[in-house]
Amino acid sequence: MRHLHRTFSEPEESRFDQEIASPMQTQSIRRKSPEIKRPRRWYRPFVDLVYPRICVLCAKPIVELDLESLCDHCESQITPTTVSCLRCSAPLPVAGLGTSGATKKKCYYCERRKWAFRKAYCYTAYSGAAARAARKIKQPSCEPLAIELGKHVGLWLQTLEHFDAKQYDFVVPIPQHWIRRVIVRYNQAEVLAENVARELEIPVRRNWLYRTRLTDKQGTKTIVERRTSVTDSFGCKLAGELKSARILVVDDIVTSGATAHEAAASLRKSGASQVDIAAFARGVGSFNRKIATH
Ligand SMILES: [Zn+2]
Ligand SMILES: [Zn+2]
Repeated sequence: MRHLHRTFSEPEESRFDQEIASPMQTQSIRRKSPEIKRPRRWYRPFVDLVYPRICVLCAKPIVELDLESLCDHCESQITPTTVSCLRCSAPLPVAGLGTSGATKKKCYYCERRKWAFRKAYCYTAYSGAAARAARKIKQPSCEPLAIELGKHVGLWLQTLEHFDAKQYDFVVPIPQHWIRRVIVRYNQAEVLAENVARELEIPVRRNWLYRTRLTDKQGTKTIVERRTSVTDSFGCKLAGELKSARILVVDDIVTSGATAHEAAASLRKSGASQVDIAAFARGVGSFNRKIATH
């Protein structure tokens, strides 16, 4: 299992390049796309009179009736990544700011290792307001924001020319270990997955993946430590539906890609024919600096 990723084949290169050659959508997903705007709820103004809404990131009052959790300013700061690795969705340096990011197809790491997942779709870079939002949705009290961001990711995926929801049979969230589940009773990846799946009209399978051990928090670890800590940390329930299934795994943040790889490896080992990843944010930091200096 430790070297399982070596057994997975790369996507067929010509088809893969053809599929993803079109530029990533760069529009702000809520305001500039009329089909994405949420309908106003008739009772909202009355509720706001009693409980005025404030932005969960900056605590300023929310005045727009169609917004739920973020003020205009914070929302405008969370935008889709413009230039990213075509395999793992890591943000790449844009043209003129280092290497030739606009024409580069794969990041430093994807040129050197094989992933068990076929492709990752990450909505935004983990920095600024997006990073604050990603940290907020880890708190059960911010579940409404997680719901909203899940819908955003689902709607954004549909705006990508090379993304087709019909190519997936099931959505599977990255699970928590059962001990964490009992203590916290909330999993932001599951909330995101449910809302992504609702937008894409794909059934969710919450219990197929499970954690075989309690891993430490990944936030302060190096890439090598992250990979080591999550190796063989997922199990997969053997379900009849899983055989040859095409699965979209949903997580809140992809950083080193190690968790996504292990989850995808477990699903493929249990019979899934194809696993892709969708996430709200893609980690940058030392990972991206490595790419930038490459
Ligand atoms: Zn705000
Ligand atoms: Zn990559």
